[in-house]
Amino acid sequence: RYDVLIVGAGHAGAQAAIALRQHQFAGSIGLLGDEPELPYERPPLSKEYLAGDKPFERLLIRNAAFWDERQVALLPGRTAVKVDPVGHTIATADGENIGYGTLIWATGGKPRRLACAGGDLAGIHTVRTRADVDRMIAELPAVRRVVVIGGGYIGLEAAAVLARLGREVTVLEAQDRVLARVAGEPLSRFFEAEHRAHGVDIRLGVVVEAIFGEDRVTGVRLAGGETLPAEMAIVGIGIDPAVAPLLDAGANGGNGVLVDAQSRTSLPDIFAVGDCALHANRFAADRGIRLESVQNANDQATVAAKTILGVDAVYDAVPWFWSNQYDLKLQTVGISAGHDAVVLRGEPASRSFSVIYLRAGRVIALDCVNATKDYVQGRKLVLEASVIDPARLADNTTPLKDLA
Ligand code: FAD
Repeated sequence: RYDVLIVGAGHAGAQAAIALRQHQFAGSIGLLGDEPELPYERPPLSKEYLAGDKPFERLLIRNAAFWDERQVALLPGRTAVKVDPVGHTIATADGENIGYGTLIWATGGKPRRLACAGGDLAGIHTVRTRADVDRMIAELPAVRRVVVIGGGYIGLEAAAVLARLGREVTVLEAQDRVLARVAGEPLSRFFEAEHRAHGVDIRLGVVVEAIFGEDRVTGVRLAGGETLPAEMAIVGIGIDPAVAPLLDAGANGGNGVLVDAQSRTSLPDIFAVGDCALHANRFAADRGIRLESVQNANDQATVAAKTILGVDAVYDAVPWFWSNQYDLKLQTVGISAGHDAVVLRGEPASRSFSVIYLRAGRVIALDCVNATKDYVQGRKLVLEASVIDPARLADNTTPLKDLA
């Protein structure tokens, strides 16, 4: 039995344990996860780690000595399959029962897989864990052509790395632009042009009908009949939050487990944090959303830890995120979904510009490409939901801080 048992040893789980000790929690802490490694950072998986620019040791959130000194019991290689909120226990896939005083659910999500024929052939990869990327790296020497299915951040980051590694890369996107779910059109068009300039074949509005291959993938067939030969396919079509055991135990939720501003679920003594937590976010007009970012994982985990310790805390952080592709550094602040106007600040052709999103005249988000100043200064505009004349926002000769 642990006074606090954390299920899921990724960003949010690790931060919950760190924050508990930082705020002098004296009880026992168990940090249980289904992966074999010490908690590590996920963002480099589709960037420096896939590229071979960063060894795994540099992805670790903390080293083994840290967890040891803080007396956080690491319980790797275990999958929680059942929660008993009355008896205050969880059960693992191996039949172990572990008791808890307070449970923090921090399981993130599992990548969606292709539903079409051939969708589980060897050579088809998702990008979520170190093991996923190690499998890709091991196969790469025998791979010339890669088809990336899904033009979201992870698919595009992987495409950029693989193009740099000399592979012939095709990106298939079902919508009429890449990043359609998360960004405005100017940003999508910019990234499409960048990828094409780097030799990546970007196909929009295409539907994958089947994957061909005997033992492993040899090609991807599109609706309409065309087949793209490939030795590897990468599927980046989003995640499903890993919340079935909690929902089965009666927690409210659906697409994620519902939490309040202290990250409490509807079940007693059970919190949920990170990618799996569905919450009302004031930066999304109080809509219920799940955020998939390191910032959100860390902030929700910290709020949960403080709440457990009886310290007043409310989750109210400005969302932010980054993505690296080629030599481009994208930084986003706020949540652009639900915008009704878009202002372009600077020239995409200069490879340094920002896209500013408005709703009802108020600034709700910025996407900044190689424009860190805008990102830093625009944060205040998002925080205050500033009302600013779009013509002034568009004028990149005036710093955003002068408009605040
Ligand atoms: P995770 O880090 O996924 O941790 C959850 C852990 O729980 C995993 O180890 C999982 O295997 C485990 N688990 C799941 N179910 C169970 C179970 N039943 N029992 C035991 N363990 C379980 N965010 C950014 O802000 N910037 C970026 O540039 C960025 N790039 C990314 C690139 C990639 C390739 C990926 C995959 C994600 C990226 N993200 C990025 C998102 C970011 O990594 C996530 O938002 C963050 O990891 C969420 O933390 P989490 O703890 O909620 O989930």
